Amino acid sequence: MARAQISPLIHDAHLHSEQTMPFSLKRHEVVEYLTLLGIDLPARAQLTDEKLDKRLSLVLDSCQYISRVVPNPPLIPTMYPTWIDAPGNKLLNEVICRTNPNEADFLGQLWKQGIMMDITTALRTTPLNHLRAMLLLIALGVQRGSTRFACADEAKTSTLRIKVLEVRKFDSSTPIFIVQYQHYERSKFYPGWAQNMAGATLQQQNLLARILRRNSKRIEPTYRPDGLEVGNGFDLSFLIPIGPLTLKDRGKHSTIEGCPNCGETAVDLKKCARCLGVSYCSRECQKNHWKAHRLLCQSVSSGTWQEVVVRRPKMIHFSSSTIVGNPEDELGLDEHLKTTPPENIHGAEPFLLKLVLKLDDEDDRIPCILLYDRQQSFRLILDSEENEAFEVVSKVVEQKTERATGYPTIHCWAKRTADWALRLCLDPLPEQPNW
Ligand SMILES: [Zn+2]
Ligand SMILES: [Zn+2]
Repeated sequence: MARAQISPLIHDAHLHSEQTMPFSLKRHEVVEYLTLLGIDLPARAQLTDEKLDKRLSLVLDSCQYISRVVPNPPLIPTMYPTWIDAPGNKLLNEVICRTNPNEADFLGQLWKQGIMMDITTALRTTPLNHLRAMLLLIALGVQRGSTRFACADEAKTSTLRIKVLEVRKFDSSTPIFIVQYQHYERSKFYPGWAQNMAGATLQQQNLLARILRRNSKRIEPTYRPDGLEVGNGFDLSFLIPIGPLTLKDRGKHSTIEGCPNCGETAVDLKKCARCLGVSYCSRECQKNHWKAHRLLCQSVSSGTWQEVVVRRPKMIHFSSSTIVGNPEDELGLDEHLKTTPPENIHGAEPFLLKLVLKLDDEDDRIPCILLYDRQQSFRLILDSEENEAFEVVSKVVEQKTERATGYPTIHCWAKRTADWALRLCLDPLPEQPNW
């Protein structure tokens, strides 16, 4: 537990226990980033700034698959061996970013090749690509023996400095970079400190600093790695692989708990008298939400509903969205082998359901419809065998499909009526959600 000398280059009067962000994101930026990260909040304009901002932080946690590496904080790095780049082991740059086959974009190609020729392009694209490009820069730097990284905007309004102290091995595809970081304004500019410098807008810096700040609270407070510099304005934190949200997390973060308009949960909610399908905190929220709610209200009170009996599939492949290198997501199929009915997270309330018509089911080779909710709390099968409802439902899926190619797909409102039964509203259908 050796402590290194305080570097003569960097001197700050006091130790920051928790850094404040030099810049906060504006509301429209938070909304934009949530959207770019795959979150669909139909009533997001009504959520408070605080709730939206919190949601962005939670989404970034999910992009790190944080609950896998730190299910019960604090993280105790000494529990894990040091990462060693040895022949036969995966390289840091190969594992630091997660992706899925859906993302057949240049970034995937980029880290496969392990070269940075296009990093400036990556930095200009989505927030997720920027975060991954930064992690890639750090991983490649560490492989070459660098420890000090920084990113700043063009005008150097603020700079985020990251010093890598060590790399631990959570598992063969998950390194944990133990770092110290500092996010500061121009007044504290330290030229020549960083061995690797990258461009990052203030907003991009905010996202990375947000991750570092949140992880900072997750690390064992008495942990003192070699090379730790104290009293210089740095905070101890860690970085782990980042990638796209799993389908489940996308659903989770796209869901508004409590009042569907403002997200209020602390007060008694009152049901819409017409459909009894949603509950609001106030008359005002009900009014503001009417445009979004109208179709559901009509569907529930006067739509055409069809009862269906479903079963649990033996195996379902969500391969195009499965996060490569995230064992939890890859192995997430086990639960579907069980025979107990999935938990009913919706109660008696209507929810959005996705229906995908597969004319040959990979297991049974019979036509079936795959049904799942946005939260992925279940993935169920409506099959054609001994199921009268199949013909009715499959006809609607085929006729009203939202896709020009691939499997016919629709969304509809649904209610859970029993362990293995649902009621589907086949007319009217909702506007196509971003899901
Ligand atoms: Zn409300
Ligand atoms: Zn209603």
